[in-house]
Amino acid sequence: MTNNPPDKKEIQREYMKQYHIKNKEILSAKAKIYRENNKELIAEQMKRYTEKNKEILKQKRKEKYEKNRDAILLKEKERRAKIDKNKLSEYGKQYRKNNKESISIKRKQFREANKPRLAETNKEWRDSNHEYLLKKNKEYYDANRESLVKRSLAYLKTPMGKIVAARHHHKRHTQMKESECSLTVEQWNKIITLQENRCTICKKPFTKRNPATKDHIIPLSKGGGFTFENIQAVHSLCNNKKRNKIDPTNIVSWLQ
Ligand SMILES: [Zn+2]
Repeated sequence: MTNNPPDKKEIQREYMKQYHIKNKEILSAKAKIYRENNKELIAEQMKRYTEKNKEILKQKRKEKYEKNRDAILLKEKERRAKIDKNKLSEYGKQYRKNNKESISIKRKQFREANKPRLAETNKEWRDSNHEYLLKKNKEYYDANRESLVKRSLAYLKTPMGKIVAARHHHKRHTQMKESECSLTVEQWNKIITLQENRCTICKKPFTKRNPATKDHIIPLSKGGGFTFENIQAVHSLCNNKKRNKIDPTNIVSWLQ
């Protein structure tokens, strides 16, 4: 171990330290007065400093938060518990109202930054709430049926909608031409009779209001033909919900 005599700087530093300890009160009072008299200047300096050290400060805040996460969250919870709930919700409401734009920008940034994670949680949620979602969708559709139909019809009249419709029509037309197409009227009537006039999806009977429509068991898009073997009778609403999934359990028992 070396034992050099303390250099000049070190002596000076030690002196200042002792000076500060001895005159703590006077110094802090002085600093307070200085701050009061130079508010604008200090604010300006602070602003410049934070602007200049943005990234470093951000990193430091993040580190501090991560290190003290539990304590910070607990403190925040305690703070919130003390505040009147109504007042808080009123405050939040007001804040959201006044900061609509910045909130929406921040949300968008958050979504962008957490895309894969959010997609994963969303998917998990949808999978575990499948029944609930079906019910909600149906309720929404039933309640807004007219406006929804109106909206899709209006969309089909727009330039983009026309392109989409033409593409769909063309695709379906080509698929029809390429797949087997042999279902006769008699066969179609036979299918309905074999199904005892019931929809294979919801098992409810066909009515005048909700008649039988032809549905490809293996979808046209996946090579299924318009044939006696591959057509089942379903309600059009049930059909819309089925979309393009091949469900082998749905390849109906009446075929056997
Ligand atoms: Zn049905």
